[in-house]
Amino acid sequence: MENKLDNCIFCKIAAGQIPSKLIHEDEDLIAFHDINPAAPVHVLIVPREHIATLADCGERHAALLGKMMLLAPKLAQQLGCGYDAEAGAGGFKSLFNTGPDGGQEVYHLHLHVIGGPRPWRGQR
Ligand code: ADP
Repeated sequence: MENKLDNCIFCKIAAGQIPSKLIHEDEDLIAFHDINPAAPVHVLIVPREHIATLADCGERHAALLGKMMLLAPKLAQQLGCGYDAEAGAGGFKSLFNTGPDGGQEVYHLHLHVIGGPRPWRGQR
């Protein structure tokens, strides 16, 4: 599995070389609280493998991407911003930023999970 310990902050977090507020880890993924949250809940789901962007993913990443997406509602539920379909309440955003025009700043694939009572900073 490729990683970029020399210059990638999320690879360093995955390797435990930089501290983070981890909320999930397994063999493929880690998830931690965003250092600059845009909302009451803001976590990042990050593959251990270094993949720069969503646009760099191919067929071989389909299961990994599925795993990232399926983890989002579980973490949202755990953090108090799950979607309650019966009550028509709660919910969260799940967001991949890709490239400069997509607002991507860290070039290691990550899924933002953003939620909690509105209003949020910037209404991202
Ligand atoms: P944007 O800053 O536009 O959201 P990205 O989609 O690339 O760009 O998101 C990178 C995210 O990583 C930002 O929300 C930023 O606050 C977060 N971040 C950067 N460094 C750390 C860190 N050391 N620990 C936790 N989150 C971090």
